Amino acid sequence: MKITKKHIFSLLVILILAIGAISIASAYTGTGFSHNVPSSKYSDMSASDILSQYSDTECHVEERAVCTKVVDGDTIYLDNGEKVRFVGVNTPERGVEGYIASKNFVQKLCLNKEVGLDIDDSKHHDKYGRTLAVVIVDGKNVNEMLLKEGLAEIMYMPPSEFYPYNWADGNTHVADTHSSSSSSDSSSTDSSSSSGSGSYVGNANTGKFHVSSCSSVNKMSEKNKVFFSSRDEAINQGYVPCKRCNP
Ligand SMILES: [Zn+2]
Repeated sequence: MKITKKHIFSLLVILILAIGAISIASAYTGTGFSHNVPSSKYSDMSASDILSQYSDTECHVEERAVCTKVVDGDTIYLDNGEKVRFVGVNTPERGVEGYIASKNFVQKLCLNKEVGLDIDDSKHHDKYGRTLAVVIVDGKNVNEMLLKEGLAEIMYMPPSEFYPYNWADGNTHVADTHSSSSSSDSSSTDSSSSSGSGSYVGNANTGKFHVSSCSSVNKMSEKNKVFFSSRDEAINQGYVPCKRCNP
């Protein structure tokens, strides 16, 4: 077969289409969510049902306004014209699995209600001009709730006043501690008890994770330890396996 310019041209077109398809596909797989919360999960629950499972946050309300629109699980509009990006967390974009569940959750808690904001003192706005804040409803930290419900992944972008790994830490004992106030005051001392629940330990500072017996875990500062119950959980939160212990 004689190779003509036409052949080369059509090969180029196929190549470009293939590259396009691959990059679109990877844009949707790289989000790092577990995607396992069914969109119907909260349909039979009222906002107060959900809120009653959480203890009051230590965050301070610096501003109050009514939420007029929920864009997705981490972005809302207020009646003062402000657009708010929930700091420290990231929920699925439109078209990605998990988008509906996280958006419904935030609508249920915030839409047409007065919400409080604790604005990030280290960085007031993101590059799109959205206010970076913890959103507080009935004294509860909604950013933290999104993480604990598995509706959001951690998105820690220093400098930030808030350290979202602290919100996710209580992940394993959230369901059965309705009225307990121990979650906030014992955070500095209870790391030994929480290490039992996770067989993998991540380092929030390096972004690597290890098996709990890896020598690196002993050297790690307590405040950087993040516990995972499975390898997938660590990967989903963006952690990279340690090369030495190969978790
Ligand atoms: Zn290791």
